[in-house]
Amino acid sequence: MNRDEKVSATRRSFLAAGMALPAAGLASVRAPGAAFYQAPAALPVRTLGKTGMKVTRLGFGCMITSDPSVISRAVDAGITYFDTARRYQQGNNERMVGAALKGARSRITLSSKSGGKTKTEAMQDLETSLKELGTDHLDIWYMHARDEAAAIPDECLEAWTAAKKEGKIRAIGVSTHNPNNIADRVMQAGIFDVVLVQYNFASGNTIDATLKRFFEAGIGLVGMKVVAPAAGRGRGGAAATPPVPGKPVAALKWVLRNPLIDTIIPSMTDMDQLEANLRAVNEKFGPEDEKLLAALNEEIRPYYCRACHQCDGQCPQGLPVADVIRFASYTDFYGQYSVGRERFLELPERLQKVRCEDCGACAIRCPNGVRVQERLIRAQQLYA
Ligand code: SF4
Ligand code: SF4
Repeated sequence: MNRDEKVSATRRSFLAAGMALPAAGLASVRAPGAAFYQAPAALPVRTLGKTGMKVTRLGFGCMITSDPSVISRAVDAGITYFDTARRYQQGNNERMVGAALKGARSRITLSSKSGGKTKTEAMQDLETSLKELGTDHLDIWYMHARDEAAAIPDECLEAWTAAKKEGKIRAIGVSTHNPNNIADRVMQAGIFDVVLVQYNFASGNTIDATLKRFFEAGIGLVGMKVVAPAAGRGRGGAAATPPVPGKPVAALKWVLRNPLIDTIIPSMTDMDQLEANLRAVNEKFGPEDEKLLAALNEEIRPYYCRACHQCDGQCPQGLPVADVIRFASYTDFYGQYSVGRERFLELPERLQKVRCEDCGACAIRCPNGVRVQERLIRAQQLYA
């Protein structure tokens, strides 16, 4: 039985047993007294669905990274998957990522994303991405943040298919905060090789059935925002509190114990985070982690949206409630005000002007205990 067959067996067991199985049989990343990063062989590797691409189980989300030396160090440490997007950091992130990965391109899997909704917009984005990243192709090109079927129009399917045919991309992907909502469209389109999903302990098992559906179709699965709810910043306007060591690591291990997830792309901004994640990728999720996350789940309950989307369509003014609460979370959990504001300003102008504080009592009741109106007011106070 080769390694991938073993992964398949583990995955089959997982599917049968639910979330009970921890990651097993993984060597330690750092020997006592060794240098902070290890030889590449120490990191577990997966084949990304039917793409055939081999990626380390720990990838690198570059969205909020501004120090290129952290990315270079990750390459040295053996991480082989790096993700960016055309719009990150107002279009400047790709240039930095390209410079940091110079010389390593042939050894790594590189993805970017386009929010383009027409063929022309998307193709322009792709040309810019290739230029900024200093490469002649992307390994994965994602349709960015497609949370409903209508956000994957036929024109996009044509653009991404053409790019693959021309050899400008190797695999077609889609990124989403709501995989349940786009699953039928993804399956029906039949062109997708990889799906990048928001997945973390706070959302629990709400997307497990969809992950299984994608997995069984041979679609590679990448987890994003895996640590976000454990990032431990100030919430609801409270003074920022530093992240509690241990919580982000436990959150990362929680995701990695799901063998359906091929790789994850936590954001990393400094060497400490990189080091902690390199260690965590080879550690088991244990009872202490479980306890930490259970307590944290209660702590963040009123603030962090679980992305269950049960409130979709309930605001009479048409506010995309889950999205706007997520925008507040960029500041309150990630400490990334500019990302949250950028996303807020992408809303149609009419929705930017909605003021939930003028609404009286909000009729929307979140089954997960999020204080919906309070969080929306927070987002509007932050960004409007
Ligand atoms: S606010 Fe509540 S109901 Fe709405 S998506 Fe978030 S967790 Fe679900
Ligand atoms: S408070 Fe906000 S989300 Fe709730 S109904 Fe009013 S406008 Fe919609």
